[in-house]
Amino acid sequence: MPDQPEFNLHCPLPSSPTDVIQLGHGDGGQLTQNLLQQIIYPRFANPELDRAHDSALLQLPGNALAFTTDSYVVNPLVFPGGDIGKLAVYGTVNDLLMAGALPRYLSCSLIMEEGLPIATLTQIVDSMAAAAHETGVQIVTGDTKVVDKGHGDGLYINTAGIGERCTDRLIAPQSICAGDQIILSADIGRHGLAIMAQREGLSFEAPLSSDCAALTGPVSALLAADIELHCLRDLTRGGLATALVELAETSGLGISVEQNSIAISDAVGGGCELLGMDPLYLANEGCFIAFVAKADAEIALQLLRQHAVSASSCIIGEVSDSNSGARLQTSIGSERQLRRMMGQPLPRIC
Ligand code: MG
Repeated sequence: MPDQPEFNLHCPLPSSPTDVIQLGHGDGGQLTQNLLQQIIYPRFANPELDRAHDSALLQLPGNALAFTTDSYVVNPLVFPGGDIGKLAVYGTVNDLLMAGALPRYLSCSLIMEEGLPIATLTQIVDSMAAAAHETGVQIVTGDTKVVDKGHGDGLYINTAGIGERCTDRLIAPQSICAGDQIILSADIGRHGLAIMAQREGLSFEAPLSSDCAALTGPVSALLAADIELHCLRDLTRGGLATALVELAETSGLGISVEQNSIAISDAVGGGCELLGMDPLYLANEGCFIAFVAKADAEIALQLLRQHAVSASSCIIGEVSDSNSGARLQTSIGSERQLRRMMGQPLPRIC
């Protein structure tokens, strides 16, 4: 048998890795379609998204709506207690709840960096889907874009949310009244310190984990109860101190809180001492304050304590008509005027 002629074939195009995001995933062509069909649509599946139209068409009841948006740039993408996907759903859901609205629909925009492992993306989309399921929201519209390597940091997410207002009360800073009791739903500082520890490779004796959580249970209970609930605020960037300062300014009233009533876990307390951080300014992602009329404060506490995320709720202070900003009664008996945070102690926390 004669020798077969030898062919030396070379593919003129380098083969593209299939396990990472490529620029082509953002070009609107076949790769984009593959990404949507294989990763996004099956996980977020709902009739509106499945329509694959340019906009979601929503049927909403006659109630007033709340509408909010937030972008998430947290670094690292996955951290103890959560990841950027969970944060992007819970964060927007919580902002709707803070306005007295029950979250219904979310949008989801993914800005991916070339080279992002598909496995990481899948893990984060799975996490978003689970968080949406848990909180009863549907992700009905979205977008995917890819930026070249070095021009992003793995993944950024934007979510916008629509919620249905379920009370005629205006739950807002303008509704705060002198005499209102201020309830804090949980111990503070866990998210900020957990991110810092993860990023800097620090480890503490007591384990640190983000408090990243949906506030749907406790806030729905407060909204459903016939109580004089005046304002809600989640304690994200800037922490408890910044929220108190902002609310004192917006309402034109005085806020006074007792340092001894503000719960701080041993892990956060120890970490802050070591790093010279003030837990009052650390970010939280599953923690809020409620302003409730004095007569209803006890009922509110009982309702909040029935939910795991707010089981340790307690009254930390009250509102006066003094227009004196926000003040902390310290554990050594002095008074400290709280100020807005100046410069981030830690960037890219959410
Ligand atoms: Mg907020």
